[in-house]
Amino acid sequence: MEERNLELKKAGLAIPKVLEKNRLLLPYHLYQAKRDWKQIAGEQIAKYSYILDFKDKQAIIAVMNPVYMNYLFMYKNKIIEEINSYVGHRAIADVRFVKKGKKPVRTVYETLQGEVENVFPKETIRQVRLDDDTVAHIRQETAHLAEGLREKVVQLRFAQAKRKKAYQLEGFVSCPRCGRWMAPGEKECLFCHSEARQALKRQIRAYLDDMPWLSWEAVASYLKAEVTAAAEEQAYNEVRRNLIYTYIEKVYYEYDTEADDFILAMLITRRVPGDIPPKFIENLIAKYRKKDDNVSSSEP
Ligand SMILES: [Zn+2]
Repeated sequence: MEERNLELKKAGLAIPKVLEKNRLLLPYHLYQAKRDWKQIAGEQIAKYSYILDFKDKQAIIAVMNPVYMNYLFMYKNKIIEEINSYVGHRAIADVRFVKKGKKPVRTVYETLQGEVENVFPKETIRQVRLDDDTVAHIRQETAHLAEGLREKVVQLRFAQAKRKKAYQLEGFVSCPRCGRWMAPGEKECLFCHSEARQALKRQIRAYLDDMPWLSWEAVASYLKAEVTAAAEEQAYNEVRRNLIYTYIEKVYYEYDTEADDFILAMLITRRVPGDIPPKFIENLIAKYRKKDDNVSSSEP
């Protein structure tokens, strides 16, 4: 509890500072996304990648192990969604993957199959030998096809099977929920992980919309989750923080209503409505209101 209060104080100090400097919360959010990549993409993905930079509306992700380029590329849209969800804006429209190293930034292209064949270690695929059962099975399944077509389909199926095996040899397994390939060590794919997390966050958001003062402990009991559930607590912190930022932004740009101010006070203090003195709200709003005289005209 004490730790959290400290964290809140720190955030309380940092936010106006950034606002003053940049007149926008976005750079601060993006900085946080960089720092919190592990929470956004999951521990496994964060082991071999990180956010290198943001340029315009593009996130540039450095990939340390080229074997995972292809894998990450499949998750491109999901990664965009996750970053946006974390940042609380539609800040990112695209993601670019780059190999980390001395080489200059290199773009990764999508093939017709939606995958980046040239990044996946082709050597491995070439070395893969299909077992007799698989070969027989494919032959049998294609036996009914017209002769001209049959061999083409067979070769395609062989290539598919080899690719599947190559993935397995690299340590990839498929997601138990949806069957997508997952990086070694992952328990569910980013799609499933993200879906579950979005649902959780929507649920938490609904609670906080109704009762902005709810502490993590209270939300945990509503969710029937353990107070020690780290991922759930993280989701709570994210939702609450983004809500706070949203309301602060309203205050900052002066399109807040009285109800907004009240909600912001409840979110920040985690106190029930009757416990917040009107003077506190007044001071709070004054603190976050854009201060025109302090803003220099030079920086955008
Ligand atoms: Zn899945």
